[in-house]
Amino acid sequence: ADLPRGGERAGLARLDAWAPDSGDYAERHDDLAGDRTSRLSPYLALGCLSARELAADPRLPEAMVRQLCWRDFHLQVLAAFPDLVDTAYRRGADDVWDADLTALEAWRAGATGIGIVDAGMRQLLAEGWMHNRARLITAGYLVKALGLDWRDGAAHFAAHLVDLDEANNAGNWQWTAGTGNDTRPNRGFNHERQAGRFDPEGAYRRRWARS
Ligand SMILES: Cc1cc2nc3c(=O)[nH]c(=O)nc-3n(C[C@H](O)[C@H](O)[C@H](O)COP(=O)(O)OP(=O)(O)OC[C@H]3O[C@@H](n4cnc5c(N)ncnc54)[C@H](O)[C@@H]3O)c2cc1C
Repeated sequence: ADLPRGGERAGLARLDAWAPDSGDYAERHDDLAGDRTSRLSPYLALGCLSARELAADPRLPEAMVRQLCWRDFHLQVLAAFPDLVDTAYRRGADDVWDADLTALEAWRAGATGIGIVDAGMRQLLAEGWMHNRARLITAGYLVKALGLDWRDGAAHFAAHLVDLDEANNAGNWQWTAGTGNDTRPNRGFNHERQAGRFDPEGAYRRRWARS
């Protein structure tokens, strides 16, 4: 019921509502509870708005234009490496994963018992969207803490995201799993530390707590 309204007109309205209020984007875009990002991703993913049009808009903060560059980067990677969605980009990457259906199901349902992970997964199920920081934390938890296959995580995101973009979904999953073109493949995400930094008061976790 709460899915965003589709179309170019709705996308432009969202842009006009957000742009004047975007001055603190650089400082606060990682603030999980603050929810300060544009939420323009569905409009970009579905072609209702173009990234070039946004990048040329003088109201938008430079930090956001940099995010648009990441989007473009992953599209370019997919063009050069069409197997990105199901094949490790990094040849010889440690692409061997455990199989634990029970743990995978708990992750999908937002029932791992880790508050920050479950909050993100429940936001995904409820809104068809998840904050970027929560995507990093939940993806990192699946691949680094549980040791499960990033492709299963990407498939679950793909089934629920209203902003699904195969290049950006797979590219970001591979970045998190260390199989992509990140220069630091062994990057880890400590979910406790991430929760402390980006949800210090626990407001995001409380918002999405199991009712
Ligand atoms: C595991 C994982 C999966 C993801 N899957 C998708 C996906 O399927 N579709 C998708 O559009 N984005 C995806 N992202 C990137 C990012 O999470 C979303 O683009 C962002 O959360 C959308 O919210 P927003 O529009 O409010 O972002 P804003 O912060 O307002 O950013 C503006 C725009 O920049 C682009 N952008 C922002 N962050 C990123 C990023 N890290 N990588 C690439 N582009 C970015 C998006 O087009 C976004 O709409 C994924 C990230 C991760 C970690």
